[in-house]
Amino acid sequence: MPSGEGLRSQTEMSERQRRRGLNEAVFREVNERIRDINERFELEPQSLDLVCECDDTSCTDRISMSAADYEQVRADSRQFAIVPGHSDSTVEVVVAREKGYDLVRKQSEAAAIAEETDPRSP
Ligand SMILES: [Zn+2]
Repeated sequence: MPSGEGLRSQTEMSERQRRRGLNEAVFREVNERIRDINERFELEPQSLDLVCECDDTSCTDRISMSAADYEQVRADSRQFAIVPGHSDSTVEVVVAREKGYDLVRKQSEAAAIAEETDPRSP
């Protein structure tokens, strides 16, 4: 057997990425809940007050967007809405800079996690 040095660091890297992906999945769940509550109580649908979906668990920043924009974000399992500047270029790319938030799309393994954990996937 080879020493496996390269393999190990690769595994560590993906473990870290996996954890980060899971953090974002949690924030997405929170936002899905916020949207549900807004819908249920028929609150002003103009804007949703959401949490930043970046991978930093200590991040408590908020973003707001219209319910329609939120639907656009959730239309793709790999997409997340985050506060501008919170993106992590090792796992995602910024696909659009919207008013008040950046739309990012997960890449490679992070994308797979995002899809697996999508509460809207069948
Ligand atoms: Zn953030």
